[in-house]
Amino acid sequence: MSWKASARHGVREAPAGLALVQDLLNTRATMAYAPDLLATPDDAQRWLTDALAAWSRVAALPAPVLLLSSADLRSVRRLRTTFEGVILAGGRTAGQDGALPPADVPVTLVPDAAGWVRIIPAGRGTRWLASALWAETLVAQQAGLWPRLKLCHNVECRAAFFDTSRNNSGVWHDVSTCGNTANLRAFRERRRLLGGTGGV
Ligand SMILES: [Zn+2]
Repeated sequence: MSWKASARHGVREAPAGLALVQDLLNTRATMAYAPDLLATPDDAQRWLTDALAAWSRVAALPAPVLLLSSADLRSVRRLRTTFEGVILAGGRTAGQDGALPPADVPVTLVPDAAGWVRIIPAGRGTRWLASALWAETLVAQQAGLWPRLKLCHNVECRAAFFDTSRNNSGVWHDVSTCGNTANLRAFRERRRLLGGTGGV
């Protein structure tokens, strides 16, 4: 079991359960080669089953079997839009664009005998999925990892990647593809402008 949506882009996976948020973001269709994995209920079911198995493995927790109805499919797509909005807002004005985050999300806190507390997703159906996504977000925020989950600055790509650069300055999911495309575009634009002002 693996993070299939993220694997399509060859991106570095976010650590532990944060990769679930990343994988949801990477279900979005990008450019020509990667179709939307939430296009139909069947596609979405396949993605979700794989993603929950992968999450269960890294979180060392059981994941429920979620069978998506078409209404559930809309909920999962809304969750994706919400998390895109939250990431694009960079945590400053969360929820300004796209779907608004839910007012409240159920979780269960489970302390062990040594006093270490685990946050366990709660709820049924897509509410459980929302709970898992927000719980992973909280854990990542507490660990300082959240600002490293980014969407590629190439608007035609928007792949979600985990930035491991030392000063968290990465903006492309892959410098050699999206970075070069942008550099080439900027170079052509500069040349065009120079040609326009310098020409006869
Ligand atoms: Zn990219």
